[in-house]
Amino acid sequence: MSTYAPTLRSLFLAVFAASIAMPLSAQPGGDRATSIKPGESCPPGTTEIRPRSCLGPQEAAPSILDYRPHSTLVAPEHLVKKARFPAIDFHGHPFEMLGSVESLARMGAELDALNVRMIIVANNVSGDALKKMVATIKASPAMKDRVRVLTGIDFQNVGPGWAARAVAQLEADVAAGAVGIGEIGKGFGQTIRKADGSRLALDDPELDPIWQAAARLKLPVFIHTGDPQEFYQPVNYSNERWLELELFPGRRVSPDRHPNFEELMKERDNLFRRNPKTTFVAAHMGWHANDLGRLGKMMDEMPNLYVDVGAVLYDIGRQPRAAHDFFVKHQDRILFGKDSYQPEEYPYYWRVFETNDDYFDYYRHYHAFWKLYGIGLPDEVLKKVYYGNALRITPRLPQTGW
Ligand SMILES: [Zn+2]
Repeated sequence: MSTYAPTLRSLFLAVFAASIAMPLSAQPGGDRATSIKPGESCPPGTTEIRPRSCLGPQEAAPSILDYRPHSTLVAPEHLVKKARFPAIDFHGHPFEMLGSVESLARMGAELDALNVRMIIVANNVSGDALKKMVATIKASPAMKDRVRVLTGIDFQNVGPGWAARAVAQLEADVAAGAVGIGEIGKGFGQTIRKADGSRLALDDPELDPIWQAAARLKLPVFIHTGDPQEFYQPVNYSNERWLELELFPGRRVSPDRHPNFEELMKERDNLFRRNPKTTFVAAHMGWHANDLGRLGKMMDEMPNLYVDVGAVLYDIGRQPRAAHDFFVKHQDRILFGKDSYQPEEYPYYWRVFETNDDYFDYYRHYHAFWKLYGIGLPDEVLKKVYYGNALRITPRLPQTGW
């Protein structure tokens, strides 16, 4: 070895020194790159290509609507058309399928192809509308044991005399065939007013008689509170739901509106706590599927709390390990529910719950700019989530044949 041959270390130091001294124009992107200071973000239209060096594409960037890259990942793919075990859709809104015996039969065929054996109509119907719906279902040879209906509560004008009227209506609806209460909509807590004009809080003590009646009659209370937390945030380019909030501006909740997200959630949790004998099913995993630690604490603290998984698959499927563990730990408290009735969307749920597939498309891009992963639930957990938990907390459902 000659003595003046550079050692590896000195060679590395020389290259390193040269790279520090290299002017911006010699770096990738050349003159078009822009440098920023530590802590700054890149200017609009550029992205950070090296530490503190930002570059924009040569051609105009496509809109986020038009950028649809095809994944080149080659990985095992298990499409699941039918649920592995019969399912109860606890969060059903099959509005247009309920009108006649013929449309019910059509829905039956669609549900058979998915292995959804039963659907719970969460359309908040009461009184004569409920009686009419139950009569149509009873007249359907195909579906009379496969569709059940929740009753709604009219929260308008809560004040003197309201509770007695509401409980009487609830009892009448149960006699007419209702199996639970719901879906209590998001207007409750946000926009509904009391008789005296004040906002009706979720935990208003004047409502306690109705929750107590639900416990006495063994009716689960299916309740949707508020909106995803991003809907309460400024609609800017770091908002995860920017596209949805621009497509549907009516979904924005003004950031200074009261109650805000946290205030609503506090009232809701207080409602669950002050009525421990009443079974509550929080729709959409209570909007905490993006924070399973928080939801897990609630589940530990409130044994009367259950959740459905409707329309939050994008959060479940982006954290497969945490979601798997959450579902296993709380397997007795999670119910399958789909929300919007779109038969072609159910198989995405089956795939997330039943497989360990990696990195696959979700059905609704405006919900999520990311891919989903399977959480590979064991059969015993699937059975509970698909039907067992719904049957247990809703004793008025047909209980045989499962
Ligand atoms: Zn719903």
